[in-house]
Amino acid sequence: MSSAAVNVRPEIAGLTAYVPGLSIEEIRERYGLESVIKMASNENPLGTSPLVQEALARHAALAFRYPQGGNPRLVQAIAAHHKVAAERIAVGNGSDEIIDLLIRIRAVPGKHNMVCFDPCFSIYPIQSRICGVEVRRVPVEPDFSLNLTKLAALADENTVLVFVTTPDNPSGYSVPMQALQALAAALPPAALLVVDEAYADFADDEQASSLLAAGIDMPNVVILRTFSKSFGLAGLRLGYAVMPQALGNYYWRARLPFSVNILAEEAGLAALADSVYRAETLRVVREGRAALTAGFEALGCHVYPSQANFIMLAPPKGAMDAAGTFEALLRRGIIIRPLKSYGLPHLLRVSMGTAAENAALLKACKEIWA
Ligand SMILES: *Cc1c(COP(=O)(O)O)cnc(C)c1O
Repeated sequence: MSSAAVNVRPEIAGLTAYVPGLSIEEIRERYGLESVIKMASNENPLGTSPLVQEALARHAALAFRYPQGGNPRLVQAIAAHHKVAAERIAVGNGSDEIIDLLIRIRAVPGKHNMVCFDPCFSIYPIQSRICGVEVRRVPVEPDFSLNLTKLAALADENTVLVFVTTPDNPSGYSVPMQALQALAAALPPAALLVVDEAYADFADDEQASSLLAAGIDMPNVVILRTFSKSFGLAGLRLGYAVMPQALGNYYWRARLPFSVNILAEEAGLAALADSVYRAETLRVVREGRAALTAGFEALGCHVYPSQANFIMLAPPKGAMDAAGTFEALLRRGIIIRPLKSYGLPHLLRVSMGTAAENAALLKACKEIWA
C-alpha cells in the first residue's frame, strides 16, 4: 500500500470506531426472528410522530433544494419553545456536531485541555482527542453520582471546556441544580461549562432538574438539547444548544453551512408543534421507568436511580451475568445495551419501551435468571 493512504495523524491512528447499539435487522437475520424489540439506544418508544411523518411527506419534493443558511425558521421556533433570544440558539447535525464544534472553536491543540467524568458520553473525549486536545477525567463516585468539586479541581487556566451530562448517561443520575451553579461560579475564567441536557425533559420534575427549564442563565454555561430522544428524530440528526450570544456568533462561522438538512429542519418544526406526541412520550417514559425499576428490583437486581429514558442495572447476585443476560435476551429478540464499552462489563442499560415491551423484557429476564 502506498504511504499516502496510511499516513494519518497520530490522534486518528490510535482510535477505534464508535460501537453503536445493535440494529433490529442485524438481530432478525442472526437469529431468524420475526419480531425484535430494541431497547438499546434510548430512542423514542412511540416511533416517529404522525405530524413529523406528514411534514416529511409534504416536503419530500423539496429535497433537491439546499436548506436556508442558518436554519432561521427552526432557530426561531426553538427560541420560542424555550423563551430565549434566537441569537443564542445553535442547531447542528445532532448535538454530536455541536459538541465537536465547541471543541474546535474553543480549544487550541497542544495548549488547552478539557475536563469530563469517567465514564461519560464518549463523544466528548473522542472528539477532543481527534482535535489533539488534552482530556482530563475524574471517576464518577461508586454510586454513580457526580462529584462536581472533584471535577472543578481538574480545571486550570488552560481549561476551555468542562462537560457534565445531567441526567447522566449511562447511569441516569441527575445532578442537583445548585451544584451545577456552584461549579459554573467556581471555574477558572476561560472555562466554559457545557451541560448536556439530552435527557432532562424526562425527569419527574423538569423544572427542578434542568437549568434551561428553570430559566437559570449563567454567562459561562452552554446547554445542549437534542431532537433525538423525546422528540423522536434520532435518525434525522438534529440537536441544538442555548449558548452565550457572543459564542453563538462564532458557532455559525465554524459550522458547515448545510449540516442540518431540509427534511430535518421541517421535521424539527413539526416535532416542536406536536405537543400531544411529546406529552404522551413523557408519560410513557416516566411510567415505564417506575414500572421497570420496581420490576427489576423485585427480581433482585440493583437498579440505579434514573431520571432519564433508560435505567442502568446489575443482574441479581448468583444469576447469569450481564454479558450472558445480554446474549440470552438477543436470542429472545430483545436488544438492550451492555456497558462494556463504557468500562462497566458487569452492568446493563435498558431504554424505556412501551408498556408491552417493558413487560416482555421483565418476563424474559425472569426466565433467564430463574
Ligand atoms: C443521545 C445523547 C445525545 C444526543 O446526541 P445527538 O447527536 O443529538 O443524537 C447527546 N448527549 C448524550 C449524553 C446522549 O446520550
